[in-house]
Amino acid sequence: MRGWRTLLGVVRFFLFYFGLISKDDSVLEKDERSEFHKEGDGVCCSKCGQKMTHYPGAKMTHLTYHDGVTFGHFLPKAVGGKNVGKNWVQHECNLCNRAHGNLFLKLIHKYGQYPKDVPFLTLLKFVIYSIGEFNNSIIGFWFMDYEDRFQQHREALILEKMSGGKKAKFKQKRIETARMLIDASRKRALEGAT
Ligand SMILES: [Zn+2]
Repeated sequence: MRGWRTLLGVVRFFLFYFGLISKDDSVLEKDERSEFHKEGDGVCCSKCGQKMTHYPGAKMTHLTYHDGVTFGHFLPKAVGGKNVGKNWVQHECNLCNRAHGNLFLKLIHKYGQYPKDVPFLTLLKFVIYSIGEFNNSIIGFWFMDYEDRFQQHREALILEKMSGGKKAKFKQKRIETARMLIDASRKRALEGAT
């Protein structure tokens, strides 16, 4: 049912925000981690649609293995998210996961150093956006600002990789190329979904 996961996440966020539960510091066993990654091999990322690959033992960075399977927390751990369970984690490509992380960090740094420095309603809106159930729904326009920024972070990472790690100013042509790549992966995702 649409909204269930969001409700669960929002409740957990409230409990965490008001100090009734503490941060999930659990560390998954190596076997559990590798099992989760294996399950995501060949699955399409639910955010961008690119087919993900499990790279055993590889060290994924913001410049390498963009299609690698990662743990995608629906609700970031820093605002109460949990490490296990289908309502809390999903397979997410390395690229989208990092773009989400950058989006969240930028939001925090706009106001201070910690999630609690972000105004409560702004943070709540981010939580709902992050869980993602309503992003493509009739109320999706409410999240367009976050979605735009997410896409910008994603494009910036692609461009950085293409330029060999330089965070230089990029020519418009490169931005267009990145957009084309992103559109192509979205198209593949849509074709895969039908
Ligand atoms: Zn993705």
